[in-house]
Amino acid sequence: MQITDITVFSYKARYNDGVYTIIRTDSTIEGWSETAPLGSDYLPSSFTGEIAALKEIGPKIIGLDPRSIASVNAVMDKVMLSGMAAKSVIDLACWDILGKSVDLPTHVLLGGCLTDEPPAFSVIGFGDLPTVVHKAQTELDKGVIAMQLKVGDDPLVDARRVKAIRKILPESMKVWADANASWNLDQALVFARALGQEITIPLEQPCRSLTDCAEVGRRTGLPIILDECVFTMADLMAAHAAGVTGVNIKLSRVGGLTKARILRDAAVGLEMMVNVDDTWGCALTTAQNLQLAASTRPDRLRAVDLFAEWTNPLISEIPRMQSNGRITPVSLPGNGFGSVNIEHLGEPLFQITA
Ligand SMILES: [Mg+2]
Repeated sequence: MQITDITVFSYKARYNDGVYTIIRTDSTIEGWSETAPLGSDYLPSSFTGEIAALKEIGPKIIGLDPRSIASVNAVMDKVMLSGMAAKSVIDLACWDILGKSVDLPTHVLLGGCLTDEPPAFSVIGFGDLPTVVHKAQTELDKGVIAMQLKVGDDPLVDARRVKAIRKILPESMKVWADANASWNLDQALVFARALGQEITIPLEQPCRSLTDCAEVGRRTGLPIILDECVFTMADLMAAHAAGVTGVNIKLSRVGGLTKARILRDAAVGLEMMVNVDDTWGCALTTAQNLQLAASTRPDRLRAVDLFAEWTNPLISEIPRMQSNGRITPVSLPGNGFGSVNIEHLGEPLFQITA
């Protein structure tokens, strides 16, 4: 089997530009995948940059066997060091093809279904206390069992908000705060002190650098999860050595499912907690995330991000969160979504052919 062409679509998702890529092969099998870089000041990645990367990488993988995914990755890495979201969307389409070619879901090919029903997490953003408490209560009523509380603004205001939300949630709720690398060390320490001793929640990427994040953990005793500063295995190893206890793995940040799987396996081997996530996305991102989450040990998987629960339009039929706050992966071959409704996508942005 050979890759014959790559077609790239774009559509306006609710908050961001999304990219859909389809890889066709010389068989009847097509691979679909999705990536959506967040704002350009979030990671060393941008929508226009990833489009440019796709145009540069695409011609080099035409003619390769999409089922030899490590070979495809090796070629992509030879073309450029960056372009992680571009590489991710190609890598994910190859996994979709591999699964369809052997009639197995991707999570089986990743080692099997270790977590039948991964817990989904809800994100509670910023807002005044009554608004965010109401939002958390609404999510709780829906059956959510894991919540990520956004922080990273004024540390005193953030601490008040986190305390108010934590108070209404049952002890069994998995709760953690995510600053998205927005604080410096000074602000992160103020937040932790204002939070007080009575609340213990893991803190995700309080500062930009590993050094500062690890220092927050050392001084406060709070478990630290890293997200925005883990790209490679070396980053993960350094994080673990510095006392970091968890990692949020975003497929498009690390270059795709092939690399995410290796990081996930290493993190689990190091007894770290794993969140499965992506920068943004919609239906296909949700299904893709679910493949990695389902193949992760349940005692090491904190939760998985289900973008389909809060973005639209959904371009394909995918599993949705159940009333127990969990999600069951489907047994469809490939990345676990039905046929893609191309009407949502409009005309392709461009196509790369042999
Ligand atoms: Mg995060």
